[in-house]
Formats: sequence, C-alpha cells, structure tokens
Amino acid sequence: MIKIDEKKNCCGCTACASICPKECISLVKDEEGFKYPEIDLNKCVDCGMCKRVCPVNSVFDTSETKEAYIAQLKNSNELYKSASGGIFAAIAHNVISNNGVVVGAAYDENFNVVHCIAKTEMEIYRFQGSKYVQSNLNDIFKKIKLILQTGKLVCFSGTPCQVAGLNNFLGKKYSNLITVDIVCAGVPSQNLWDKYLDYQKSKFGSNVNYVNFREKTYGYQCSTMLIKFDSGKVYSKSGRIDPMMNFFVSGIAKRPSCYECPFKGISNRSSDITLFDAWHASTLVPEFKDDRGYTSVLINTSIGKKEWETLCNNSIKSKKVEIEDIVSLDGIMINNNPKVHTHRNSFYKTLNNEGLEGCIKHYLHIGNVDYLLENIKPFLYKIGLINYTKKIKRIKKEYLSILKGEYK
Ligand SMILES: Cc1cc2nc3c(=O)[nH]c(=O)nc-3n(C[C@H](O)[C@H](O)[C@H](O)COP(=O)(O)OP(=O)(O)OC[C@H]3O[C@@H](n4cnc5c(N)ncnc54)[C@H](O)[C@@H]3O)c2cc1C
Ligand code: SF4
Ligand code: SF4
Ligand code: SF4
Repeated sequence: MIKIDEKKNCCGCTACASICPKECISLVKDEEGFKYPEIDLNKCVDCGMCKRVCPVNSVFDTSETKEAYIAQLKNSNELYKSASGGIFAAIAHNVISNNGVVVGAAYDENFNVVHCIAKTEMEIYRFQGSKYVQSNLNDIFKKIKLILQTGKLVCFSGTPCQVAGLNNFLGKKYSNLITVDIVCAGVPSQNLWDKYLDYQKSKFGSNVNYVNFREKTYGYQCSTMLIKFDSGKVYSKSGRIDPMMNFFVSGIAKRPSCYECPFKGISNRSSDITLFDAWHASTLVPEFKDDRGYTSVLINTSIGKKEWETLCNNSIKSKKVEIEDIVSLDGIMINNNPKVHTHRNSFYKTLNNEGLEGCIKHYLHIGNVDYLLENIKPFLYKIGLINYTKKIKRIKKEYLSILKGEYK
C-alpha cells in the first residue's frame, strides 16, 4: 500500500483513493490545510493498486505532437472573465456544443475551490479565471470514468498533477477524453484562502458574493484581486498590496510537493493541451498588442491538435510560434519549481497561531511607495496613462514584477 514518508511526495491528486477497491483511503487535511491520504488498515487488503496509480511514482505520458501558439478568444465578454486569453473557455464551449461535459475548478457557494462538472454552456463561466488555491477533487475521477464509459465527450482541466492523477487512475487513453492542464507555479491551501476571506468579511463587515483573482479592470498586465460584498462595497487591489496574491506570488504558502514538482517539463506532459499566460504576446506577434489578455498554448497530442483546429476555425484568433520562444519568454514555470521560501514552514504556524493578521504583520512587507502606486493606479487608468505613456513604464514594470515575480 502507499506510504507517504515525506509530504513533498504527495500532491493530493486523489488517484489512490479513487482506485482503492476497498474504499479504505480518505484524503484528510493536515494542520496547514493540505489533504493527504489516510488508510483504514482494517479494510486494506494490500493489493498495491494505490501505489501503482500514484503519479509521483510514474507519470502516464501521452505526449506525441508538440506545437505552440499564442491565442485569444474573439468573444470580448468571455475574454474579460478569463485569466489570460480565454482559450480554456473556447475549448469548453466547443466540447459542450459537441454534447460533451466539462470538468474544472469552480467556487462553491462558500467560495471553496472544488472540481465540478458543467453540462451546459451557461455553467462554463464558473471555471473561468485562475483560483490560486488547491482545488478539492473529491470523487470527481470516479464520476469522470463513468461518463467516459458511456462514450460521451469529456474535457478535464486542472493542474498538471491533477491531469497526471486522472490519467493514471483511468489507466488508458480514452479517445473521448480531452485533458487541459495549466502551467503551474504551485498552490496555497484552502485554509489560507478561508482565513483570507474571513479577514476580508470582517474588515468590510459584510458577506462576499463575488471573487476574481485576476480582474482586468486596469488591463491584463495590471490585473487585480477583486471582491464584491453583499453591502455593495468592492475591494480591488493588486498583488503589491493584496495579502493572498502576494503570498501566492512570493512562494511562501505552497504545498510541499510544489517545491519539487514531478510534473515539470515540455516533452513529458500528460495533458492534450497546456495553457499559460502570454505576457509578451506582442514580442512574438506584433499585432497582438492589446491589453485584454493572451494565452500561450502547447498542443501535446493528436487529440489536442484536432480540438485546436476546430477552435482556430471558429472562436479564436491565433498565431503559431516557436516552442523555445514562448517557453523562454513566458513559460519559466514549465520547467522550474517555485523557490523554497525561507519562512515557508513558519508561515503556516503563524497562520494557525496568530491568524492572517499575524502573517500580514510578519510576512507582508508593504512600503509607502507601494501604497502610493496602488492609490494612483485608478487615476492613471482613468486618464489613459496606465498603458501608453513612457513616463509610467517604470511603474508598470514594478506592477508586473510583483504579479509575475517567479510567476511567468
Ligand atoms: C494554481 C495556478 C497556478 C498557475 N501558475 C501559472 C504560472 O506560473 N505561469 C503561467 O503562465 N500560468 C499559470 N497559471 C495559468 C494561468 O493563470 C491561466 O489559467 C492560463 O493562462 C489560462 O488562461 P485562460 O484565460 O485560457 O483560461 P482561464 O479562464 O484562466 O481558465 C481557467 C482554467 O484553469 C482551471 N483552474 C483555475 N483554477 C484552478 C485551480 N485552483 N486548480 C486547478 N485548475 C484550476 C479551470 O478549471 C479552468 O480550466 C496558473 C493557474 C493556476 C490555477
Ligand atoms: S493496498 Fe489496495 S486495499 Fe489497501 S489501501 Fe491500497 S488500494 Fe486500498
Ligand atoms: S500523489 Fe495522489 S496518488 Fe499519490 S499518494 Fe498523493 S493523493 Fe495518493
Ligand atoms: S506545482 Fe506541481 S505539485 Fe504543485 S499543484 Fe502544481 S502541478 Fe501539482
């Protein structure tokens, strides 16, 4: 049976719990809020299946073809709701219009990040936008298998470890399954997210009814964390000031497995299509110069290529680029792990002992210049300076450095 000697050797993908014939594995939260398998030894028959499917031991490699594109969804409303160029939404709409279902990460009614299934185009918006928190997969792999066995088309999207976990659990490639992974800089825990939301609720004295980690009010390059409250108040701050985004980008709060992620690399991806940000879209494709967001796309398999060709004929604009160019400009996290933060372990201890306020006090270093830049941003945007004037290029560079940091 599976044994996790060090936490870094489990990414929480649920493949082991999903395959267990005795249903004796539960994923249980540790003190940081990350889930790990726990085995009921009274029920275990030592069949070894959990160990065999664990993607940390062996990744189900499906890669065949490799092509790279920079692309953007044509529908402006949908594009606005997406973290970068809305390519995931394009894929999702295409799958549903072909009578398929889409599985992705969404917020539930309490803003927990959970994987769920969309059967209609109306539901796709729930998956759009990045949620920089580890999503809860629950028993989604088993549900996907049942749908695949009916012959229905399924699109699964998630982090590379989640896609690898699903493929290992399924044990074979289904021709009616399209997998989409995102390039991943690692995930903070649901506990941190819960405490962040509680902090915002008590600060604003109201319940939250909308969240977007990457709102594009000030453009793609200067996106902000946006929260709307029942009281009508709105919070909008960039990673320069916002604690959740800042802790995500600084790398202080990630799951232990993310610092030595086994799912890095270009040639060995287990998804059909890989998506990531295209911050430098205009460097490679000069006509792609608007600030509405572009997605970098890797086509990894023939299934991915078939899907891609349908999109290119319909809902998106795209340009083929060299893989090396796109990876060196914006794909640093394809090959690299987030740096281990010196205070990574004390961060979560502080979160438990002193709450988010303690973490803000000890680990969020915001200076007067940061507040000044944040406060003049709406003004610069209003008068049209935020993107076009050379004079503020330096300021913009600072925003970018905090948003991108290691995240690019
Ligand atoms: C945790 C995380 C880390 C990332 N790190 C990087 C990075 O280092 N560099 C980079 O270039 N891009 C990174 N991305 C990807 C980037 O933020 C965009 O998602 C990507 O550019 C696709 O954008 P889009 O507009 O096409 O689609 P979007 O509308 O952004 O697509 C959303 C898709 O992401 C999935 N998703 C959202 N949140 C989660 C989650 N918590 N867990 C699993 N799946 C999720 C949804 O299911 C959906 O399929 C990361 C995304 C996440 C969720
Ligand atoms: S060895 Fe078999 S029965 Fe035991 S926990 Fe693993 S999968 Fe379940
Ligand atoms: S990585 Fe996935 S399969 Fe392996 S032990 Fe962790 S949850 Fe189980
Ligand atoms: S960095 Fe690796 S282990 Fe961590 S969530 Fe992303 S794919 Fe999974």
